[in-house]
Amino acid sequence: MKTPDSFKRDTQIVHMGSDPDAYNGIVNPPVYHASTFIFKSVEHLLETRRDRASGAFEQFTYGREGTPTTRALEDAVTQLEGGFRAVVTSCGLGAICASLTAFLSAGDHLLILDSLYGPVRQFCDEFLSKFGVQVTYYDPLVGAGIAELVQPNTKVIYLESPCSLTFEMMDVPAIAAVARARGIVTIMDNTWASPLCFQPLKHGVDISIHAATKYISGHSDLMLGIAVCNEETFIPVKKTASGSGYCGGPDDVYMALRGLRTLGLRIPRHQETATTVARWLQGRPEVARVMYPALPDDPGHALWKRDFTGASGLFGAVLKPCSEKQFAAMLDHLELFRMGYSWGGYESLVVPTYPATLRSARPWTDTGPALRLHAGLEDPDDLIRDLERGFARLAAAA
Ligand SMILES: *Cc1c(COP(=O)(O)O)cnc(C)c1O
Repeated sequence: MKTPDSFKRDTQIVHMGSDPDAYNGIVNPPVYHASTFIFKSVEHLLETRRDRASGAFEQFTYGREGTPTTRALEDAVTQLEGGFRAVVTSCGLGAICASLTAFLSAGDHLLILDSLYGPVRQFCDEFLSKFGVQVTYYDPLVGAGIAELVQPNTKVIYLESPCSLTFEMMDVPAIAAVARARGIVTIMDNTWASPLCFQPLKHGVDISIHAATKYISGHSDLMLGIAVCNEETFIPVKKTASGSGYCGGPDDVYMALRGLRTLGLRIPRHQETATTVARWLQGRPEVARVMYPALPDDPGHALWKRDFTGASGLFGAVLKPCSEKQFAAMLDHLELFRMGYSWGGYESLVVPTYPATLRSARPWTDTGPALRLHAGLEDPDDLIRDLERGFARLAAAA
């Protein structure tokens, strides 16, 4: 259920998608484990077919199309992002692939940013190309200059801001305006910001995607994706997700909705800790630069400040050149920043990154090793001490 628009954001996060009157007064919507829905009559069955054919997708007909639990999560995130309706998928990559394939056919052209989430680049190079879609990677700093890259067959412009691994900020409204004027669909990966810090649809984007695996669920224990659509894009995305088999599991959907309830508390804490750790790193002699748009001296700070209302806990750093042995000595024995993919959970994480291998439009000129850090909900003093011991090991391994 939608909460009144007059409610402030934190009130909405607590109450949206919740309907106790429908569930015997129980606060949370139940987990429906369902493949089969029983039809009362032939007329009822035909009614659901008409519902689907009309693109309404209001009625429940089969587990793959979702359950009331799925709808509760979709409604909640839709409301936070100011969308029309959303589609929950099995994982974030599923939401991206469903959204891209909903609007691209053989002979079409896709403009997609360089330095994007790696597996999406693989999907473009290995799968979209196989189906005859032409893909161009563009410089994420292009802004309104994207107009010069548009071709007569360009159907989709894909954005992610800040970029994966390298955290450049994009001028989202400028790119969305160019696309809108030409009838090109825009799809944005908004996972970094979570629905709290940026709402792409309010800046002219058509579809906003989250790996709900990350901050929305918040506990590193499930895989789920969501595509929040405007009125023009909902039906194609819903049909493609459902028709390609991208559906989320009932327990994961329930847990994502549970995680969402505390998002308003978690994100500001992630930002605060990330800012503290990032500033500390900036002062270290081993560090060449830190990549976190919430820092005032970050090249993307002005755009971040203009468009975003906060930052999450994920950021990057480039060290001054050192040996592979020194770099490994630092990372291998960190106690709190454990090494692992994903992020957005309550715990801190680190991974070495190799940005040069994931870009072609904008060269990577740094020579030192790069890192991606996720500031979790631990005490920042402990996190800093962990990194400090890491730098001591790096020095000792020289
Ligand atoms: C993790 C991630 C995804 C993919 O989500 P999965 O649920 O892991 O499939 C997409 N975009 C970004 C920015 C991510 O970090």
